[in-house]
Amino acid sequence: MTKPMLPESLAALCRRWHQLQDELSADGVTMLAISKYAPDVAVQALIDQGQRCFGESRPQQLRDRALCWPDCQWHMIGPLQKNKAKYIARHAAMWHSCDDLDTAVAVSRQLDGRTLPVLIQVNIAGNPDQHGVAPEALPAFAGALSALDGVVLHGLMAMAPQDGNELQAFQSMRNLRDELFGGSVGLLSMGMSNDYRAAVTAGAGMVRLGSILFGDLDIRNNKDN
Ligand SMILES: *Cc1c(COP(=O)(O)O)cnc(C)c1O
Repeated sequence: MTKPMLPESLAALCRRWHQLQDELSADGVTMLAISKYAPDVAVQALIDQGQRCFGESRPQQLRDRALCWPDCQWHMIGPLQKNKAKYIARHAAMWHSCDDLDTAVAVSRQLDGRTLPVLIQVNIAGNPDQHGVAPEALPAFAGALSALDGVVLHGLMAMAPQDGNELQAFQSMRNLRDELFGGSVGLLSMGMSNDYRAAVTAGAGMVRLGSILFGDLDIRNNKDN
């Protein structure tokens, strides 16, 4: 059987995916494909290559895609409002962006016997405009989170400041992880298109790649998708 011909941009997407996948798997790092701006055809093309872990920042889109592709893992990476907690509780494979206890309580209440691996988002640069728990507040926040039903603390997530000190920020994250988990067992979700290499150097277990993968397939450029 001949393979259906892919449009050139989808073929290029698949080439980028294979390159990144080879590079990351050599380091034992998991690639989370951030599909928040990717059209369905691009998601399907990556699934056909073997990608299974995807990240979404909007709860309804996460739900829709989890229902459409139930054999994949759909990770929540964006800010969450309490009234959308049910989408995450029902459909997310992991919640990376947990930084508010009330919201975590709302998610926990909707879990209904499920368990949900959760990462605490850390505001590693102490930037007041960014989301995340302050490093000093991490132990108390982790303790409160661990008391919630169904919520399983799995690791930490961060976005590095884009000020040239990415590596330093990622290394601080690793130190926080080692302190909190008493070693390297906690997952570190860190590194995006611009800084994933520094994150891998610092010990990331999962990198979150959007634009470097999907490139010109961004739905914001291609309104007819
Ligand atoms: C959008 C997003 C990413 C991916 O960013 P790129 O720079 O496109 O790779 C990663 N993490 C979070 C939390 C995001 O919102």
